Amino acid sequence: MIRALWVAVICLWGSLAGAQDFSGLARVLPEQSGVEDRRGGLSVDLALSQGVPYRVFTLTDPARFVMDFREVDWQGVEAAALDRSDRAVGLRMGGFRPGWSRMVVDLDGPYLPKTVDLRVTPETGQAALEVVLRSAGSEEFAAAAGAPDLPGWDLPSDGLRAERRPRQRGEDPLVVVLDPGHGGIDPGAQADGVAEKDLMLRFGRELKEVLLRAGGMDVVLTRRDDNFVSLERRVAIAHQVQADLFLSLHADSLSAGRAHGATVYTLSDSASDEASRALAQRHNRADMLAGVDLRGSDDVVADVLMDLARMETQPRAERLAKAVRLSLADHDLPLNSRPMRHAGFSVLKSPDIPSILLELGFLSSKRDRANLRDAEWRARMAVALRDALAAWRRADAATADLVRQ
Ligand SMILES: [Zn+2]
Repeated sequence: MIRALWVAVICLWGSLAGAQDFSGLARVLPEQSGVEDRRGGLSVDLALSQGVPYRVFTLTDPARFVMDFREVDWQGVEAAALDRSDRAVGLRMGGFRPGWSRMVVDLDGPYLPKTVDLRVTPETGQAALEVVLRSAGSEEFAAAAGAPDLPGWDLPSDGLRAERRPRQRGEDPLVVVLDPGHGGIDPGAQADGVAEKDLMLRFGRELKEVLLRAGGMDVVLTRRDDNFVSLERRVAIAHQVQADLFLSLHADSLSAGRAHGATVYTLSDSASDEASRALAQRHNRADMLAGVDLRGSDDVVADVLMDLARMETQPRAERLAKAVRLSLADHDLPLNSRPMRHAGFSVLKSPDIPSILLELGFLSSKRDRANLRDAEWRARMAVALRDALAAWRRADAATADLVRQ
């Protein structure tokens, strides 16, 4: 097993106890950190104010090198300044899972770690993590690729095994999963000093409060803080809590045209237009950029049984999308010129949970951006969505009766 030689999962807490103060986050020291070309490969150096547990691995399609750490503070660290290598064609870092940070280096070809070394200076407690990557053959690279298996690292432990709950007819609380888009290492769209991930987390929390106040609903957020959550995990969470519906919240940028107003997306293999296709591709790609191994992840949804489940679920998702559009119009909220669209968003692929993706507006539009930053506007949007869910719930319960007859 080649991988075992260089995948390093090291815990330093024990060996270094007493050497220095471990309270607080380790900071990255940017002056002594960087990615540089070397003969036959490249080196990744990261200087930290203290030693932390970490792991490293590589991924294919495209070739990436990933480092995970116990949470570190990236303040003052610029990706562009760190990347001084031609072989590293991109670099990102940020929060990944609660308590963990990630750095992803895009490689211009297959390279594998030759040495992985963490040295701690006893006097200062500072740690230097040095990885040397050497050029590798593509077969060797493919064989080594993949995140080391750490139980519970990403998927909720019993996530996809949850029993399918029978369809509701309005007796029990409606289980609503709200999915604030992006997070952590994946900021989503950014414009004028605001990031989509922050706006959507804020709105997700506000909407949750409004729905809970309305009563008759249990509300679960797929993320509660600024951490990365993979698309697969978002879907798994919805299954785990046996959601009645899944609502993904976004506010992306569109460079083409002057897109503004809200758009409701439902799942389809073929996108309704080029912009929708590009948007779905960008969202699905965010997982890859964050260093998620996507090999085989679509096999799950290729299953015929899932297609059958979807035949019942898809019309319900369409009705949900329609209820949202109507309620937004009722509340005089701005709608896109084509407010109902569809595309192949991975996050909408639950076969048995009606799922929609709502672009509340576009961060690339000045007016939408101002709206999204306006607490009063967001409150109106939350109330409109509350009413939409109530309307959908009534209609859905009625069709459940029809199906049963
Ligand atoms: Zn988005």
